[in-house]
Amino acid sequence: MSYIEFKGISKFYGENEVLQKLDLSIKKGELITLLGPSGCGKSTLLRCLAGLETVSNGSILLDGKDITNMDTTKRQIGMVFQKYSLFPNMTVKENIAFGLKVMKVNKVEIEEKTKKMIELVGLEGRENHYPRQLSGGQQQRVALARAIVTEPKVLLLDEPLSAIDALLRKKLQDQIRSIVKELGITTIFVTHDQDEAMVMSDRVYLFNNGNIEQCGTPVEMYTHPKTHFAARFMGNYNIIESTKFNSLTKNNFKSEFIAIRPEVIEISPEIFADNMENSVTFKTKITDTMSHGNVLRYTLETENGVKLKSEVLFRSFRLYDIGQELYVTIEKKNCLEIDK
Ligand code: ADP
Ligand code: MG
Repeated sequence: MSYIEFKGISKFYGENEVLQKLDLSIKKGELITLLGPSGCGKSTLLRCLAGLETVSNGSILLDGKDITNMDTTKRQIGMVFQKYSLFPNMTVKENIAFGLKVMKVNKVEIEEKTKKMIELVGLEGRENHYPRQLSGGQQQRVALARAIVTEPKVLLLDEPLSAIDALLRKKLQDQIRSIVKELGITTIFVTHDQDEAMVMSDRVYLFNNGNIEQCGTPVEMYTHPKTHFAARFMGNYNIIESTKFNSLTKNNFKSEFIAIRPEVIEISPEIFADNMENSVTFKTKITDTMSHGNVLRYTLETENGVKLKSEVLFRSFRLYDIGQELYVTIEKKNCLEIDK
């Protein structure tokens, strides 16, 4: 049974339909990511759930109740935004305790809960610091603690890590995931970063221009994108027009495009003799190479002008140079047929 349900949600700003009859359902305790490029409607949907924005059509259910028109303050939803929205004139402890005070929780309980939260987000020793005395990462951990201390039904995180540098960001991704999982909070995380969505989520909803393009687990989305857009956004796929691919490989793929992940492309100076039934093979030339962490990325080009990116690990048995002619072999099961 779903804990949160969006049914036929539309949102218009004037003539502009920024959410187009969306249906989403989220189970209790799930960590869902809304992924998509800037401007595709992710924040608008979160704001509708939080009651900061009204919907034009459709309904929202939370824990079996219709909350479509419920007052914001009654929805029991915690939020963290990209911009650190802490109260600048309050200490870490006061910021975290704020929601409990509003709810008129007694002092002893406030003290206990605040202390527990400070430990949970690893800010012991900084209880009496003001936001300006903290780094961006620390401020976001205060914001997280402040959002979850009141035990909300749902936690909404709108690009909370966008302003944080790459290394720290990876660490915070792990921390946030383990904290919300430990507490079992149903969480909706918003990002435009595919890698972030992959590591954070139980399931991903991929947004495209006010519509849901595809939804699934990170592995499903990565290995089986259904559309051109999903393949581009999720896996850095090579996307080739089927007519060109068919003439290159003497196949008869019927879809409009073929999508191939860079790491499934085998390259070698000679044609692989075995397993030809289940593979396609053609000749290419290396036109560029680029190192990328522990991966080497080759740009390959065929005689009919098809360009492909292939990725191999640096520890590979053989590495090749620009200008070298190579045969490409790809298992047919890794040539995904994509339609639009
Ligand atoms: P995302 O969070 O995916 O970047 P948003 O939900 O913020 O996207 O915005 C979706 C679309 O709605 C954009 O085209 C944006 O310009 C438009 N939009 C958002 N808020 C408003 C508003 N208050 N008034 C008019 N248009 C808005
Ligand atoms: Mg946004």
